[in-house]
Amino acid sequence: MAEKTLNPFEIVQGQIKKACDQLGLEPAAYDILKQPERAIEVSFPVEMDDGTIKVFTGWRSQHNTALGPAKGGLRFHPDTNFDEVKALSMWMTFKCSVVGLPYGGGKGAVKCNPKELSPRELERVSRGFIRALGDFIGPLKDIPAPDVYTNAQIMAWMVDEFSAMKGFPNPGLLTGKPILLGGSLGRNTATARGCTYVIREAAKKIGLDLKKATYAVNGFGNAGAYSAFFMKDMGAKMVACNDSKGGAYNPEGMDPVAVSQWKAEHGTVKGFPGSRDISTEELYALPVDILIPAALENTITQSVAPNVKAKIIGEAANGPTTPEADEILNKKGVMVLPDILASAGGVTVSYFEWVQNLMNFYWTAEEVDSRLENIMVKAFEEVYAMHKEKGVSLREAAFLVAVKKVADAMRLRGWLS
Ligand code: GLU
Repeated sequence: MAEKTLNPFEIVQGQIKKACDQLGLEPAAYDILKQPERAIEVSFPVEMDDGTIKVFTGWRSQHNTALGPAKGGLRFHPDTNFDEVKALSMWMTFKCSVVGLPYGGGKGAVKCNPKELSPRELERVSRGFIRALGDFIGPLKDIPAPDVYTNAQIMAWMVDEFSAMKGFPNPGLLTGKPILLGGSLGRNTATARGCTYVIREAAKKIGLDLKKATYAVNGFGNAGAYSAFFMKDMGAKMVACNDSKGGAYNPEGMDPVAVSQWKAEHGTVKGFPGSRDISTEELYALPVDILIPAALENTITQSVAPNVKAKIIGEAANGPTTPEADEILNKKGVMVLPDILASAGGVTVSYFEWVQNLMNFYWTAEEVDSRLENIMVKAFEEVYAMHKEKGVSLREAAFLVAVKKVADAMRLRGWLS
């Protein structure tokens, strides 16, 4: 039977509904949370290097602002769409809530393939998007950040464009900026650091010695590669990784730093010396202790899940596991560390960056990392306690913790009776 994959918007609605029901909330709570408060579609013309004009489409969704201004990344991807952006903004609300940040959820995207754009074209798309969003975003309203295929340079162009629009420098507009323009030390590695802290805590709970553990990474980009580095620092061995162009598998282990150098030179991890190519399905079926999905949504499906042999899955990506796969993994007793918790390190250090921008006073890398570690460990313990208390999966537990805080905030604001 062909597998019907729900789109991320339907998936997140299901997760919210379940949590609202389990918490015994009145129907109005779900009615508010099942869609964004505000979401816009923009289109804007961009001059290409050959002099032609191309019109790009983009979106920004602000899901819920009960806990604070909307916060979340901007992705540049050819396959993105409005529903995906809305879903990702919804996950951001609960991601911020579960780790206790004073933010609501936001997300944006431009439908484009950055790999086919020249640097100048990429700059014009970035600036054009910010002009088109105009006053929809702002440092106290909705604060973007990097996401899939966007980076600190793109943030720099965007903050520059917004500053020009406002007439003065506006570093707090968005996070994930270069250090010189008000970025925070440790932001670049934060998603990975957060994910590996959570994996470390989870490993303790099941008595898994990370020094003897093996792992595989799906998506060797920013979150995936740095997660691999930190897993290596903790003594674990990477046996496989992949990216959009192919994979690399070596049961003897591969040094993630060397793989990352190979990728920088060859544009892919594929072909790394001593490894053989491996498909995503094969990677997820490897006899490893830990899997780190760090690519796009819906990569762990119901056809992949039955073959998973790992004890822990640390979701560095947003929405990597379909609900059907989730059920299979839960039945098998795999410890799935849910995205809204395991990928929250990035937005946590984004929050630190924004605080530093508002204070105009900057922290050391050690301060950033130790504050991040405290927040991640505390959030993991809170979710783990809920998981034990209610006998639900860690994902359901994370949603219970997160939805409850948002609902309490909505009640205090008078949005619920
Ligand atoms: N794009 C990242 C995420 O999905 C970071 C968002 C942010 O820093 O605001 O969590």
